[in-house]
Amino acid sequence: MPNTPGFTRLFTSTIPEYDATADLFRHDATGAEILSIRCADENKVFGVTLRTPPTDSTGLPHILEHSVLCGSRKYPVKEPFVELLKGSLQTFLNAFTYPDKTCYPVASANLQDFYNLVDVYLDAVFFPLIPEHVFRQEGWHYEVDDSGVLSRMGVVLNEMKGAYSSPDSVLAEYSQRLLFPDTTYGVDSGGDPKVIPSLTYEAFRDFHRRFYHPGNARIFFYGDDDPRKRLALVAPYLDAFPPLAADSAVADQPPFPAPRQAVMPFACGEGDATKGFVTVNWLLHGADSPETAMVMDVLEHILIGMSSSPLRKALIDSGLGEDLAGGGLEAELKQMSFSTGLKGIDPADAPRVQELILDTLAGLVRDGVEAEAVEAAVNSLEFSLRENNTGSFPRGLSLMLRSLATWLHGGDPLERVRFEAPLADLKARLARGERVFEEAVTTFFLDNPHRVTLVLTPDPDLGPRTESEEAAGLSAIAAALGQDGLARAAREQADLLAVHETPDAPEALAAIPRLGAADLPPDNKRLPTLSLPDHGADILFHDLPTSGIVYLELGLDIAGVPEGLLPLVPFFGRALLETGTDREDFVSLTRRIARKTGGVGRDVFLTPVKGRPTDSHAATRLFLRGKATMDKAEDLLGIFADVLSSARLDNRERLSQMALEAKARAERRLAPSGHAAASSRLRARFGRAGWAAERMRGVANLFFLRELCERMQNDWPGVMRDLSRLREIILTRSGAVANVTLDAANFATFRPALDGLLSGLPARDNAVAAWTPQALPRQEGIVIPAQINFVGLGVDLAKAGYVFHGSSMVASRHLRMGYLWDRVRVRGGAYGAFCALDRLGGPMTFVSYRDPGALRTLEVFQAAGEYLRTVDLSDEEMEQAIVGAIGDLDAYMLPDAQGNAAMGRILAGDDEAGRDRMRQEILATTLDDFRQFGQVLSRAMEDAHVVTLGSREALAAMQAELPGMVMTAAL
Ligand SMILES: [Zn+2]
Repeated sequence: MPNTPGFTRLFTSTIPEYDATADLFRHDATGAEILSIRCADENKVFGVTLRTPPTDSTGLPHILEHSVLCGSRKYPVKEPFVELLKGSLQTFLNAFTYPDKTCYPVASANLQDFYNLVDVYLDAVFFPLIPEHVFRQEGWHYEVDDSGVLSRMGVVLNEMKGAYSSPDSVLAEYSQRLLFPDTTYGVDSGGDPKVIPSLTYEAFRDFHRRFYHPGNARIFFYGDDDPRKRLALVAPYLDAFPPLAADSAVADQPPFPAPRQAVMPFACGEGDATKGFVTVNWLLHGADSPETAMVMDVLEHILIGMSSSPLRKALIDSGLGEDLAGGGLEAELKQMSFSTGLKGIDPADAPRVQELILDTLAGLVRDGVEAEAVEAAVNSLEFSLRENNTGSFPRGLSLMLRSLATWLHGGDPLERVRFEAPLADLKARLARGERVFEEAVTTFFLDNPHRVTLVLTPDPDLGPRTESEEAAGLSAIAAALGQDGLARAAREQADLLAVHETPDAPEALAAIPRLGAADLPPDNKRLPTLSLPDHGADILFHDLPTSGIVYLELGLDIAGVPEGLLPLVPFFGRALLETGTDREDFVSLTRRIARKTGGVGRDVFLTPVKGRPTDSHAATRLFLRGKATMDKAEDLLGIFADVLSSARLDNRERLSQMALEAKARAERRLAPSGHAAASSRLRARFGRAGWAAERMRGVANLFFLRELCERMQNDWPGVMRDLSRLREIILTRSGAVANVTLDAANFATFRPALDGLLSGLPARDNAVAAWTPQALPRQEGIVIPAQINFVGLGVDLAKAGYVFHGSSMVASRHLRMGYLWDRVRVRGGAYGAFCALDRLGGPMTFVSYRDPGALRTLEVFQAAGEYLRTVDLSDEEMEQAIVGAIGDLDAYMLPDAQGNAAMGRILAGDDEAGRDRMRQEILATTLDDFRQFGQVLSRAMEDAHVVTLGSREALAAMQAELPGMVMTAAL
């Protein structure tokens, strides 16, 4: 590549691990660095990262992250970010605040779209408008209600109230602060809700001035676009700045001379006021070389990565707690750290847990780590590095984040990206018989005094106390403000509302670069599928290049499972994989899985079937999923056959531990994802698939798991009987589907062995079980200890006479990106609001996320149909909505995800002809279609169901207006 004037190339280097070449450039005038990665990946990635170390917990970097995306010099609209979300083919568009950096990444597989995204993001980062009203909207501001009561609002404020309502996030946050008390990591970059209101607009502006300039930026490109064009794209932005050195270096935390202890309270629910958390945390001084970082990666896997890992196993076997706590290895900050412990403990047992951890580590050094455990951990890590399967996250973005671990602090950006040399080094040391992991355990854990033991103790009054303290603080402020001050606050609030209600200028909106309908591919992408009936089962084969990895998903039909056993199905799936078999105990089985495969998992698949009545029809499977390199394909099939035929469903000790873990996980999931819980609970009302899903995954499943934990003690024979009965019913090839994603040549080799697996399954036809959903109350409140709410509303469109038309995908997307965003997030202060239309079954759900409101949000949901009936959109806005809907349809997928999606469509009866028609209907959507959809939606609203998760106080206030609301305590 020729040199570009104004930039100096610091190096060019190949990255054989990813078939890529990297160039690192420095912008001469400002010192900005640009890492430019060339490779064949069409999913192009761009990112700007600033080093933004905070000095307090006001959430300054986080509020700024939100705010720079709210209007810039070239794009002076209220939210260019949302305009992009509405109408781009982006495969990733977001921003993240870390404890030391702020990242603005975008990705797209469409070149023109990619360039559009890059330009809007560059302008947002370097030339944001960030007026005071944006700071107030995203950060915090006062609101005064009709009776003169003062409150605080703000998107980040409510987002962080949600984060501080989850004990797992509180635990992670406190652990970091305690390990790094003398550095920027000793404060919360996201913002502590108690501290956020001390932030001023002046400090906020000043932070942007100090840190958001090229000299403090790392710019990243990745993909198959023209590398020469990249520098040309960024040059005009960088050239606009004078050289300026940022004082943003992150200091190292000096070592502790002796271990420390800390005890903190957390807001627990009414039902679990006795259970706490404990973690032991270490700062790993001197672990930063690529070789040591690799050792620590593998060591984490050895210690806690599998259910058979010695440290995890010792903690679970102790019976002192319910599930593992702590995040394991943290490698994204300047210094690495490690955290592990137990949740669901009696806080008085915390010293015993710490002792157990230290004793177990000492035992590993004394007795040596078992060779099989090492082999399992090395293989697992190597598989995942080579497969590089980042799911729906762009591969380039994952690479960018790894490069930043070193690059952000002046190191070689490729140091953590290259894995071949450190992996080979590790294998050579192990081959020579070096005690690699025993030495690492001694150095980084046993002999390391930089250790903090953190105990979180439950405090059922903390939630209500926090709220009453905030209320008392606010009335003191109101008194100090006086009549004049309150009037001013009310005026400012009205001004903010006026800004929200003023539409963007059409010429400003038009300036945002976007694709037109003409730029869209006219046809749906076909996913290759060959359906091969086999011994009464179905093989679905997807001929796709997978670099020699076979992806196998075996789905067993669960339609014959009687109603009472349904909630046990997910637990049964896990029991297959984690109890051992007739031939080996669970330790040896889990190690075999890790040594021979890239992992084996399970989950339940449930969907309505197109064209069939939702009350009586659903496609339902329990899936075992696994992947392996072709040379180990037979091992993978052998594992499937073993667990299906002889899993130890009588292993009481393991099953009891797993039930406790499952219960603890279901509890801990509620506060971070209350919107998902509300949505599942709503869908349970609208058909067989939704009802079964709630029984197996929703709040209903949490109640079931609590009972199961008790039955493990009191009714063990009954539990065993239920599990064997499930095996009898589920284990049949009738209705089974084997989904294989692989290239044709390898499939020819794989097929006979797969035949062997399928023909080995018993052949028995099950009658479809009659499931009779119990009626759920029309309005439900689910009590959890949280400072914010999750409000949900659901309607059955099919009942209101709706017949699917592609245009409703455009309309519901427009509701989500426009209507709900503006009213529930921007005006209502909630962190998020979504709606989802199940086009196969007809239910539509609306949910809010980390929402300070409840009734106000419901009103917005209820008026959605009315909005669509009267909305006026310009041709450009309609085109933008269409582009966005096509972007959803054409979502970027790696080969295994393509195979999985193709199978899901087949099971759901979602045929290609119907999908083609849907695409045409999307492309031809008009305002008339919106109106018609709005009419159906309004009609359906008359029969709406409501589910809200929140604190008892918040729900009681709701109940005053909705007297029929039934309250249930979940936590
Ligand atoms: Zn945020």
